[in-house]
Amino acid sequence: MREYNRLRTDLVIANRILAFEEVVDAYGHVSIRNPVNPNHFYMSHSVAPGMVTQEDIVEHDLEGRAVDGDTRPLYLERFIHAGVYAARPDVNSVVHAHAEAILPYGIATGTPLRPVIHSGSFIGPHVPVWNIADRFGDTNLLVTNMDQARDLAAALADNNVALMRGHGFVAAARSLIEVVRLSVYLPRNARVLTTALTLGGEITSLSEGEINQRNQEAYGPYSTATWRTWEHWANRCGCGHMVTRPENPGE
Ligand SMILES: [Zn+2]
Repeated sequence: MREYNRLRTDLVIANRILAFEEVVDAYGHVSIRNPVNPNHFYMSHSVAPGMVTQEDIVEHDLEGRAVDGDTRPLYLERFIHAGVYAARPDVNSVVHAHAEAILPYGIATGTPLRPVIHSGSFIGPHVPVWNIADRFGDTNLLVTNMDQARDLAAALADNNVALMRGHGFVAAARSLIEVVRLSVYLPRNARVLTTALTLGGEITSLSEGEINQRNQEAYGPYSTATWRTWEHWANRCGCGHMVTRPENPGE
Protein backbone atom coordinates (compact mmCIF):
# COMPACT_ATOMS: atom_id res chain seq x y z
CA MET A 1 0.00 0.00 0.00
CA ARG A 2 2.86 2.34 0.85
CA GLU A 3 4.40 1.63 -2.55
CA TYR A 4 1.07 2.25 -4.26
CA ASN A 5 0.67 5.59 -2.46
CA ARG A 6 4.15 6.64 -3.48
CA LEU A 7 3.47 5.68 -7.08
CA ARG A 8 0.28 7.74 -7.13
CA THR A 9 2.07 10.68 -5.50
CA ASP A 10 4.89 10.50 -8.04
CA LEU A 11 2.31 10.48 -10.83
CA VAL A 12 0.69 13.61 -9.39
CA ILE A 13 4.10 15.30 -9.23
CA ALA A 14 4.77 14.28 -12.85
CA ASN A 15 1.44 15.78 -13.97
CA ARG A 16 2.16 19.04 -12.16
CA ILE A 17 5.72 19.28 -13.52
CA LEU A 18 4.61 18.72 -17.12
CA ALA A 19 1.92 21.38 -16.74
CA PHE A 20 4.22 23.91 -15.06
CA GLU A 21 6.96 23.39 -17.65
CA GLU A 22 4.33 23.88 -20.39
CA VAL A 23 4.80 20.46 -21.96
CA VAL A 24 1.04 19.87 -21.47
CA ASP A 25 -1.78 22.36 -21.00
CA ALA A 26 -5.40 21.36 -20.44
CA TYR A 27 -4.63 18.40 -22.70
CA GLY A 28 -1.90 15.79 -22.65
CA HIS A 29 -1.26 13.03 -20.12
CA VAL A 30 1.35 10.92 -18.34
CA SER A 31 1.04 7.33 -17.15
CA ILE A 32 3.00 4.66 -15.30
CA ARG A 33 2.79 0.90 -15.69
CA ASN A 34 1.55 -1.08 -12.70
CA PRO A 35 4.78 -2.62 -11.29
CA VAL A 36 2.83 -5.60 -9.90
CA ASN A 37 0.57 -6.26 -12.91
CA PRO A 38 2.33 -5.25 -16.15
CA ASN A 39 -0.97 -5.54 -18.04
CA HIS A 40 -2.32 -2.51 -16.22
CA PHE A 41 -1.23 1.11 -16.00
CA TYR A 42 -2.13 4.14 -13.90
CA MET A 43 -3.24 7.49 -15.29
CA SER A 44 -5.59 10.24 -14.24
CA HIS A 45 -9.15 10.27 -15.44
CA SER A 46 -10.08 13.22 -17.68
CA VAL A 47 -8.60 16.08 -15.62
CA ALA A 48 -6.21 18.85 -16.71
CA PRO A 49 -2.70 17.69 -15.64
CA GLY A 50 -2.08 20.81 -13.54
CA MET A 51 -5.07 19.90 -11.36
CA VAL A 52 -4.53 16.14 -10.91
CA THR A 53 -4.61 14.80 -7.34
CA GLN A 54 -4.07 11.28 -5.93
CA GLU A 55 -7.81 10.63 -5.97
CA ASP A 56 -7.92 11.18 -9.75
CA ILE A 57 -5.62 8.25 -10.58
CA VAL A 58 -7.40 5.39 -12.37
CA GLU A 59 -6.07 1.92 -13.16
CA HIS A 60 -6.43 1.08 -16.89
CA ASP A 61 -5.97 -2.17 -18.79
CA LEU A 62 -4.11 -2.59 -22.09
CA GLU A 63 -7.29 -2.03 -24.08
CA GLY A 64 -7.69 1.42 -22.49
CA ARG A 65 -10.53 0.40 -20.17
CA ALA A 66 -10.82 1.45 -16.54
CA VAL A 67 -10.60 -1.47 -14.09
CA ASP A 68 -12.20 -1.78 -10.66
CA GLY A 69 -15.50 -0.45 -12.01
CA ASP A 70 -14.33 3.17 -12.14
CA THR A 71 -16.93 5.06 -14.18
CA ARG A 72 -15.36 8.52 -14.28
CA PRO A 73 -14.78 9.92 -17.81
CA LEU A 74 -11.36 8.89 -19.13
CA TYR A 75 -8.94 10.72 -21.44
CA LEU A 76 -10.06 10.29 -25.07
CA GLU A 77 -6.52 9.36 -26.09
CA ARG A 78 -5.79 6.85 -23.30
CA PHE A 79 -5.33 4.24 -26.06
CA ILE A 80 -1.93 5.75 -26.89
CA HIS A 81 -0.62 4.55 -23.54
CA ALA A 82 -2.26 1.12 -23.80
CA GLY A 83 -0.77 0.63 -27.28
CA VAL A 84 2.77 1.51 -26.21
CA TYR A 85 2.70 -0.65 -23.05
CA ALA A 86 1.38 -3.60 -25.08
CA ALA A 87 4.10 -3.26 -27.71
CA ARG A 88 7.04 -2.35 -25.44
CA PRO A 89 7.66 -4.52 -22.34
CA ASP A 90 10.73 -2.36 -21.59
CA VAL A 91 8.62 0.78 -21.20
CA ASN A 92 7.21 1.67 -17.77
CA SER A 93 6.08 5.23 -18.37
CA VAL A 94 4.50 7.16 -21.25
CA VAL A 95 3.74 10.82 -22.02
CA HIS A 96 1.51 12.18 -24.75
CA ALA A 97 1.46 15.95 -25.31
CA HIS A 98 0.96 18.67 -27.91
CA ALA A 99 3.95 20.94 -27.09
CA GLU A 100 4.02 23.59 -29.80
CA ALA A 101 7.80 23.67 -30.32
CA ILE A 102 7.87 20.13 -31.73
CA LEU A 103 4.88 20.51 -34.06
CA PRO A 104 6.77 21.95 -37.08
CA TYR A 105 8.89 18.79 -37.20
CA GLY A 106 5.79 16.65 -37.65
CA ILE A 107 4.64 18.52 -40.75
CA ALA A 108 7.85 19.69 -42.51
CA THR A 109 10.02 17.11 -44.22
CA GLY A 110 13.05 19.37 -44.72
CA THR A 111 14.66 18.91 -41.30
CA PRO A 112 14.11 15.89 -39.07
CA LEU A 113 13.92 16.44 -35.31
CA ARG A 114 17.14 15.18 -33.77
CA PRO A 115 19.18 15.81 -30.63
CA VAL A 116 21.29 18.96 -30.96
CA ILE A 117 21.90 19.80 -27.25
CA HIS A 118 23.34 17.56 -24.55
CA SER A 119 20.08 17.37 -22.60
CA GLY A 120 18.30 16.42 -25.81
CA SER A 121 20.30 13.20 -26.04
CA PHE A 122 17.45 11.35 -24.31
CA ILE A 123 15.37 11.76 -27.45
CA GLY A 124 17.57 9.14 -29.10
CA PRO A 125 19.16 9.16 -32.55
CA HIS A 126 15.97 8.73 -34.57
CA VAL A 127 12.52 10.32 -34.16
CA PRO A 128 9.92 8.77 -36.48
CA VAL A 129 6.91 10.79 -37.67
CA TRP A 130 3.57 8.98 -37.58
CA ASN A 131 0.89 10.25 -39.95
CA ILE A 132 -2.53 8.99 -38.88
CA ALA A 133 -3.86 9.62 -42.40
CA ASP A 134 -1.54 7.01 -43.92
CA ARG A 135 -3.72 4.20 -42.64
CA PHE A 136 -6.88 5.84 -41.38
CA GLY A 137 -7.57 8.60 -43.93
CA ASP A 138 -9.49 11.61 -42.70
CA THR A 139 -9.89 11.55 -38.91
CA ASN A 140 -10.10 14.19 -36.17
CA LEU A 141 -6.35 13.43 -35.71
CA LEU A 142 -6.88 12.05 -32.19
CA VAL A 143 -6.00 8.47 -31.27
CA THR A 144 -9.42 7.23 -30.20
CA ASN A 145 -9.18 3.44 -30.55
CA MET A 146 -6.74 0.55 -30.18
CA ASP A 147 -6.27 0.08 -33.94
CA GLN A 148 -4.86 3.58 -34.22
CA ALA A 149 -2.86 3.13 -31.02
CA ARG A 150 -1.27 -0.09 -32.28
CA ASP A 151 -0.34 1.63 -35.53
CA LEU A 152 1.27 4.49 -33.59
CA ALA A 153 3.16 2.06 -31.35
CA ALA A 154 4.44 0.26 -34.47
CA ALA A 155 5.73 3.58 -35.82
CA LEU A 156 7.38 4.34 -32.48
CA ALA A 157 9.04 0.91 -32.68
CA ASP A 158 12.16 0.84 -30.47
CA ASN A 159 12.57 4.63 -30.37
CA ASN A 160 12.03 6.88 -27.35
CA VAL A 161 9.85 9.44 -29.12
CA ALA A 162 7.51 9.54 -32.11
CA LEU A 163 6.00 12.71 -33.53
CA MET A 164 2.36 12.64 -34.54
CA ARG A 165 1.71 14.69 -37.68
CA GLY A 166 -0.19 17.90 -36.97
CA HIS A 167 -0.89 16.80 -33.41
CA GLY A 168 1.92 16.17 -30.90
CA PHE A 169 4.27 13.48 -29.66
CA VAL A 170 4.44 10.29 -27.66
CA ALA A 171 7.44 9.63 -25.40
CA ALA A 172 8.31 6.33 -23.74
CA ALA A 173 10.89 5.48 -21.07
CA ARG A 174 11.70 2.85 -18.50
CA SER A 175 10.73 5.09 -15.56
CA LEU A 176 8.46 8.02 -14.73
CA ILE A 177 11.34 10.34 -13.91
CA GLU A 178 13.03 9.58 -17.21
CA VAL A 179 9.91 10.12 -19.32
CA VAL A 180 9.28 13.46 -17.60
CA ARG A 181 12.86 14.53 -18.14
CA LEU A 182 12.71 13.47 -21.78
CA SER A 183 9.40 15.29 -22.30
CA VAL A 184 10.66 18.53 -20.74
CA TYR A 185 13.82 18.59 -22.82
CA LEU A 186 12.19 17.51 -26.10
CA PRO A 187 10.53 20.91 -26.83
CA ARG A 188 13.65 22.74 -25.62
CA ASN A 189 15.79 20.77 -28.05
CA ALA A 190 13.27 21.52 -30.82
CA ARG A 191 13.40 25.25 -30.04
CA VAL A 192 17.20 25.30 -30.21
CA LEU A 193 17.16 23.43 -33.52
CA THR A 194 14.52 25.80 -34.96
CA THR A 195 16.57 28.82 -33.87
CA ALA A 196 19.76 27.35 -35.31
CA LEU A 197 18.02 26.79 -38.64
CA THR A 198 17.19 30.50 -38.87
CA LEU A 199 20.91 31.28 -38.53
CA GLY A 200 21.70 29.31 -41.67
CA GLY A 201 24.56 27.00 -42.52
CA GLU A 202 25.14 23.43 -41.43
CA ILE A 203 23.54 22.10 -38.27
CA THR A 204 25.74 19.91 -36.06
CA SER A 205 23.70 17.26 -34.24
CA LEU A 206 24.84 14.97 -31.46
CA SER A 207 26.57 11.95 -32.92
CA GLU A 208 25.28 8.47 -32.20
CA GLY A 209 28.41 7.89 -30.09
CA GLU A 210 27.69 11.01 -28.01
CA ILE A 211 24.09 9.94 -27.50
CA ASN A 212 25.18 6.48 -26.41
CA GLN A 213 27.77 7.83 -24.00
CA ARG A 214 25.26 10.09 -22.30
CA ASN A 215 22.65 7.39 -22.06
CA GLN A 216 25.08 4.89 -20.57
CA GLU A 217 27.08 7.08 -18.22
CA ALA A 218 24.89 9.96 -17.13
CA TYR A 219 21.50 8.43 -17.18
CA GLY A 220 19.72 6.56 -14.40
CA PRO A 221 16.32 7.38 -12.92
CA TYR A 222 17.76 7.73 -9.42
CA SER A 223 21.24 8.93 -10.28
CA THR A 224 22.30 12.09 -8.49
CA ALA A 225 22.05 14.09 -11.70
CA THR A 226 18.58 12.89 -12.66
CA TRP A 227 17.19 13.16 -9.15
CA ARG A 228 18.36 16.76 -9.03
CA THR A 229 16.11 17.67 -11.95
CA TRP A 230 13.12 15.86 -10.38
CA GLU A 231 13.55 17.75 -7.09
CA HIS A 232 14.10 21.04 -8.92
CA TRP A 233 11.02 20.70 -11.11
CA ALA A 234 8.85 19.42 -8.24
CA ASN A 235 9.78 22.47 -6.16
CA ARG A 236 9.10 24.84 -9.04
CA CYS A 237 5.54 23.53 -9.43
CA GLY A 238 4.81 23.56 -5.68
CA CYS A 239 5.22 19.81 -5.10
CA GLY A 240 8.55 19.88 -3.26
CA HIS A 241 6.93 18.62 -0.04
CA MET A 242 5.59 15.55 -1.89
CA VAL A 243 8.98 14.27 -3.12
CA THR A 244 10.30 11.07 -1.54
CA ARG A 245 13.26 9.12 -2.78
CA PRO A 246 12.94 5.32 -2.60
CA GLU A 247 15.12 3.67 0.04
CA ASN A 248 16.62 1.19 -2.41
CA PRO A 249 16.26 2.81 -5.81
CA GLY A 250 18.58 0.33 -7.53
CA GLU A 251 20.51 2.86 -9.58
ZN1 LIG B 1 -3.35 14.36 -28.40
